[in-house]
Amino acid sequence: MIDNNVCYKCGVPDPMGKKVELTIQLTNKCNCGCTFCSNCNFPDYEFDKDKFMDIFSILKNNFPIIKVAFTGGEPTLHPLFTEMVSYVRENLSHTRIVINTNGSNLDKLKEISSLKGIEYGISRHHYDEKINAEIFKSHAPCSNEQLAEFTKFLDTTDESNYILMHCNLIKGKIDNIEEVKKYLEWSKDIGIRQVGFVELMPYTQAAKDDKVEVDFLQLPNDYFLLTRFAERKEVCKCINFDYKGIKVYNRRMCTSNCRNVPNAPLVYNYNRLSKGFGGDIIWE
Ligand code: SF4
Repeated sequence: MIDNNVCYKCGVPDPMGKKVELTIQLTNKCNCGCTFCSNCNFPDYEFDKDKFMDIFSILKNNFPIIKVAFTGGEPTLHPLFTEMVSYVRENLSHTRIVINTNGSNLDKLKEISSLKGIEYGISRHHYDEKINAEIFKSHAPCSNEQLAEFTKFLDTTDESNYILMHCNLIKGKIDNIEEVKKYLEWSKDIGIRQVGFVELMPYTQAAKDDKVEVDFLQLPNDYFLLTRFAERKEVCKCINFDYKGIKVYNRRMCTSNCRNVPNAPLVYNYNRLSKGFGGDIIWE
């Protein structure tokens, strides 16, 4: 069921300001070359497992960790991917774990499928696999057939595991409401039940050039059952809605005033902990 008061991406506002979201960047390496990638210009580093475990243990013992996201680069390329996801699950049995992946390594994802409560955040920026490959500048991401097979496979695992498909809104690709509908129909056909449409963040010139806004309010109410709009439209324009049983969100760039973003996530990368990507270093 859709919760009308909670943005799918941002979560519940945190009155105490103490809840922690942790993002673990295992590697900057990626087998794709998206022009809008925010990681392209950063060197890779050697993930220090022992140091991570020390910092994780301190965080876990002092704060309620409400979400842990594994990201990259492409996190499944890291040799410790399976071990680290399992370690976090063992130590935080009820926290939501998110895997941000380009979907190039479904076998690796299957290795963690016996765990519970995993959100498989698969980036897929077009329903046409050739155009998708063109956007990723690589044929590494899986085919539509492989994706459909993985979706069916995941349905045989614990019901708390699910795929959340991420589609960037890109000029000339999924950039208007008709394309959004085609994307959602394709998602429905392969059994996807959650989709997010995300505006490009202006990290690169290409991202600035290709950024496009889609007006989801064009959708007729009887076709798309709109269920929530931000209460403070001056700071947040995110929209959650339901499309024929698929939970959908459209996330626009939030400002720091957005009531649904309690804190920037803590980020573990380069063997140190910082507040947000590139933010103040808390521990090194
Ligand atoms: S798949 Fe993700 S990490 Fe890899 S190049 Fe594209 S945006 Fe960057």
